[in-house]
Amino acid sequence: MPKVTEEDVVQIEIKIDEEKCVGCGTCIEVCPVQLLELKKVDGKKKTSAPDQSFCLKCHMCEFHCGYEAIKVYPPFEGQQPTDQAKAPMRHRHDH
Ligand code: SF4
Ligand code: SF4
Repeated sequence: MPKVTEEDVVQIEIKIDEEKCVGCGTCIEVCPVQLLELKKVDGKKKTSAPDQSFCLKCHMCEFHCGYEAIKVYPPFEGQQPTDQAKAPMRHRHDH
């Protein structure tokens, strides 16, 4: 995993493609800091990230979304996610 500096945290951006998002809530469930939430857009549920400042840049939301609707920038620079990386976050308290 790349080293996370304060600069990285400031520069993070979570982009949600509302065309692709089906509001399944998977990303919300896997986010370890619960910063994602559902909002209604034209009567349909969509994920939103009202406050991205405390994002850990763990990319769990991105890895678990089955619709490629959520992306975290800067992009994940490590290896492709392994089964371990996809494990519940209780195994990954490295912050
Ligand atoms: S996992 Fe993907 S499709 Fe499901 S709510 Fe999150 S962004 Fe939308
Ligand atoms: S990258 Fe991690 S901390 Fe940031 S919104 Fe996605 S799941 Fe949550």
